[in-house]
Amino acid sequence: MAGGPVWRPVPEADRTWLTRQPLPADGRPLTDLLDEVRDRILPYPMGNGHPRFFGWVNSPPSPAGVFMAPLAAAMNPSCAGGDHAGVLLERTAVRWLAELVGFPHRPGAGLLTSGSSMATVVALATARHQAFRDQGHDVRETGLYGHRPLALYVSAEAHSCLRKAAELLGLGTRYLRIVPVDAAFRMDIDELRRLIAADRRAGVRPFFVAASAGTVNTGAVDPLDDIAAIAREHELWFHIDGAYGALGILANDAVPQYAGLERADSLALDPHKWLGVPVDAGCILFREPAGPHAAFSLVPPYLRDEDAGELGWFSEYGTEQTRPFRALRVWATIANLGRDGIVRLVQHTTRLARTLAELVEASDDFELLAPAVTSITAFRHRPPTLDTDRAEALNEAIPAAVQRRGHAFLTGTRLSGAAALRACILHPATTKDDLIVLLDEIRAAAREVTT
Ligand SMILES: *Cc1c(COP(=O)(O)O)cnc(C)c1O
Repeated sequence: MAGGPVWRPVPEADRTWLTRQPLPADGRPLTDLLDEVRDRILPYPMGNGHPRFFGWVNSPPSPAGVFMAPLAAAMNPSCAGGDHAGVLLERTAVRWLAELVGFPHRPGAGLLTSGSSMATVVALATARHQAFRDQGHDVRETGLYGHRPLALYVSAEAHSCLRKAAELLGLGTRYLRIVPVDAAFRMDIDELRRLIAADRRAGVRPFFVAASAGTVNTGAVDPLDDIAAIAREHELWFHIDGAYGALGILANDAVPQYAGLERADSLALDPHKWLGVPVDAGCILFREPAGPHAAFSLVPPYLRDEDAGELGWFSEYGTEQTRPFRALRVWATIANLGRDGIVRLVQHTTRLARTLAELVEASDDFELLAPAVTSITAFRHRPPTLDTDRAEALNEAIPAAVQRRGHAFLTGTRLSGAAALRACILHPATTKDDLIVLLDEIRAAAREVTT
């Protein structure tokens, strides 16, 4: 709310109202509900609408997306398939996302999802199906029974959704190889090669490697071209998690970092992250539409549609049957900003992350932990008088203390085994002054927790 804190704790009375309401026997008029929303809900946002929200990876909503959300709800189609505007517009929304990040697009080779967690499930299930088929098995029929293990490779900085997907699809964390990272938190490709070779010797079949284009901790982009080459050499499915960072390719000087993005078999990216499409909007892009169709298509008689066209239904390419009209918010956000507007947003926020890195380096009480390559800056508060143990405890305590003060919102993480702070900048209205406030807020919070 304008002028209010970035975030505030929910007082006990409102917390009770929010969590313990009895099921009403009689309905109340909408005007009453609006009063309740004003008094009990709007005052307690997550905070990501505010220019000084730097937590996790959560953007403010795009105005176009906010405006279109009620229209999508009012039309209320299911975008499983059929012949109506919702499914037709999704074809354009998906193609635009591919074109924005320079990923080759063939009709049908992608769909909108709830987010990148689901996009990753769809991609990994497709890769798994293909790996089995190459061995003469149909995993949809036999499951994983009686097959030798398949190994997959992710970096130590990979998002947890990859592990979740591997567990869910029965691949097992025992065969999930965690590839160490270099000093810039990028996948170490010599280690990747070494792990693949070790698996081959042990009779485990390598089949999937996931690179990150923008990690959550530091915004690092893995060496995509090198990983693409290794994937080709060893016949691995090459997936890229670009949930947060794929759009970073639009920042002028970031382009070399992203070389090889176009070589992936699948690319997950979240319009509800940097692009600012209101939650939820994820996307999975494939090089070939046949892969996900083979892994997911299942058309019961009551859904058979002779007019479904060559591509069939979206529900034949993923897990969801009834699918919301996400495309309206994605389309409107891109159409409203235009490619140039999106480039400006990405460049503005990327530059600010670098500015924050410079402010950190110029200070004698902050320490930069990683190069700022996208719009995330990872750092640590390190007052000169503090020993390592106390600095560790302090940095663990800082995020919650900053949040409570209400002037900025920051979250922490662990990097190389130590407590770290990281600011993710996604708001078009954030300025350099906000970054100066952030550092001062961290200092003030640090004084609070040490006294
Ligand atoms: C957010 C995020 C995910 C998970 O995507 P959801 O949309 O939250 O399901 C995966 N990877 C990265 C890098 C992310 O930022």
